Parts: sequence; C-alpha cells; structure tokens
Amino acid sequence: SYQPLGDDAVRSTNDDAAVSRLSAVTLGYMADPYIKAFVRRLQRRPPIINRGTYTRSAAIDCITAQFLGDDPSSKQIVSLGAGSDTRHFLLKSRGAQPKRYFEIDFPEITSRKAQAIKKNKELTAMLGDHSIAGGGTELHAQDYFLLAGDLRQFDALTQRLESLGFDKSLPTLFLSECVLIYLSPPDADSIVKQAANLVSSGVFLTYEQILPDDAFGSMMLQNLKSRNIELPGIHAYPTLESQRERYLKAGWDQAFAMDLNEFWEGKVEESEKARVSKLEIFDEVEEWRLLSGHYCVSWAVKGNGLSVV
Ligand code: SAM
Repeated sequence: SYQPLGDDAVRSTNDDAAVSRLSAVTLGYMADPYIKAFVRRLQRRPPIINRGTYTRSAAIDCITAQFLGDDPSSKQIVSLGAGSDTRHFLLKSRGAQPKRYFEIDFPEITSRKAQAIKKNKELTAMLGDHSIAGGGTELHAQDYFLLAGDLRQFDALTQRLESLGFDKSLPTLFLSECVLIYLSPPDADSIVKQAANLVSSGVFLTYEQILPDDAFGSMMLQNLKSRNIELPGIHAYPTLESQRERYLKAGWDQAFAMDLNEFWEGKVEESEKARVSKLEIFDEVEEWRLLSGHYCVSWAVKGNGLSVV
C-alpha cells in the first residue's frame, strides 16, 4: 500500500528522536540510563527541544502508568513504530513491566536495535533468556519481543503477535509515538480500527503534531520538508477535536486529547517545572508556548475497568 514519503526518510526520524532523548537525559531533564546504547554520538539540542522532549516523555509516562496501574503483570503493551524506545527497560528496572512488551518497526530499525541490545551487558542481563530471530532482525525474550514488520500489514503482524503469546483477552496498550502521522490517513485509520477490534479492553495512545495551518505550523512543515520529511496525517487530524474523533469513529469507547501546553501547565508538578527550569537558560518562553501548542497527546479507552484521564 501507499506511504506518501520514502520509507528511508521515515526511518531516519527515529535517529532524531533518540538523539533528542539522549540530549535531554544528559542535561538532567529525565533519567534514562539505557538510551545511550542506541545513539552513536551525543548532540546537544536547544533548550526548547529539550523541554519538548521532557514534556513528551512525561505525558506518555503518565498515561502508561495509569494504564498499568498497580497490576502491570496482567497487562501487555504493543509499541507501534517503537524505534529506539527504552520504555520496556525503564519499566523493568522499576519492576513495573507488563506481562509482555511487544515492539514493532521496520527490519532496518529492529536489526540495529537487536544488535545494540545484544552488545550491551546490562540490557541482556535484564532480558534474561533471549534469542535473536528473523535472521538478525528480531529479538525474543520471556517478556520482551522486538519484531520486524510493516505496520501497513497489520493482519500479518497480528498473527505474529499471537504466535508469540499476545493475549487478546488482556488489557492492552497500543503506543504510537510520532508514528501514525507519517502514514497515509487510510493506513493510520485502519491500524487504529484493527487495534480496537483486536482486544476486548485497552488503550490507544498517540503523540504527534497538530495545527499545520497557522504561521508556526507552516514553518514547522517547511522545516521538515527541507529534510525530505512530510506529515500526511497532520491534515487528516489537525486539531484536538479531530484527534478524539478518529478513535470514536474507529470503535473506541472514549477519547481524550490535550496539547503539550495543557500537559505542561496542568499535569507537570510545580516542583518538576521548577527543577526543569533550572537546567538551562530558557529565554524562548513565547516560542515554547507556540511549539507545545503544536504537539498533541491523544488517547482512547475501550472496555471496562480501565480509567485513564
Ligand atoms: N516511537 C519512537 C519514539 O517516539 O522514539 C520512534 C519514533 S520515529 C519518529 C518513527 C518510527 O516509526 C521509526 O522508527 C519508523 O521506522 C517507524 N515506522 C514508520 N512507518 C512504519 C511502518 N509502516 N511500519 C513499521 N514502522 C514504521
């Protein structure tokens, strides 16, 4: 099926996310001892990008923690377009890992990740028994499965997941952090819908850009375009309201969306804001407000017994 921009350009966005994360971690915005295993060279990002990375990470952590609650071992997570995400290792280091954690990405990305994990003693020790599979493109452990595949072939992925212990009856979090927006809207819609049909209860969490049409939005798109990157999904789901509707239309029961401004203002503790504000000189207050208004975290809930707000 059709993906409007080259798969190579899409894959390169993962390096960018990982470099930004290592920058924020190195400056003390958040703790992640694992990300350095996946980044070749440290690059310092500007303060506004570091604060953005911090807030994005805090938002996803917040919703993931609510989903897992105090009973993570009876739940599972499927990370779509997981890239170099370290969340499995971070949860496991706190004893808060779900029963199974699945990650899916293109084979070019997963083979590099599998190699990086294999080379790292700390990560392999955390995994316990594990094997490299799929000709080097996959890694299978007891509770962690790194899978190579194309999200546009969701049926095939579902079968693979089930053969590795994915359990439809367990509450499931589908995580899509900066992923759906790179797909054509029909492909993204079909993933959101098939995920809803797959499980009896779960959460679908998406983090991506919104508001393409104002001055800041056009500048943001222009910058990406100069790097060969386009965001076809931003025109299909350009507002908080359309982000919520995408889930309801796809069969999810409840849907929520907020921009990063709202998360930073309303959900980040005052003590955290004060701590983060001291890490770097931060003059770009107005620009920060504009930037964080253009990033959205949205999530949907299906089934009983899950409350994520
Ligand atoms: N979720 C990670 C994060 O936030 O750090 C990585 C985000 S990165 C911007 C987007 C990821 O989605 C890339 O690793 C890319 O390879 C993956 N991706 C995009 N389209 C995909 C597809 N059709 N199938 C599998 N993976 C895909």
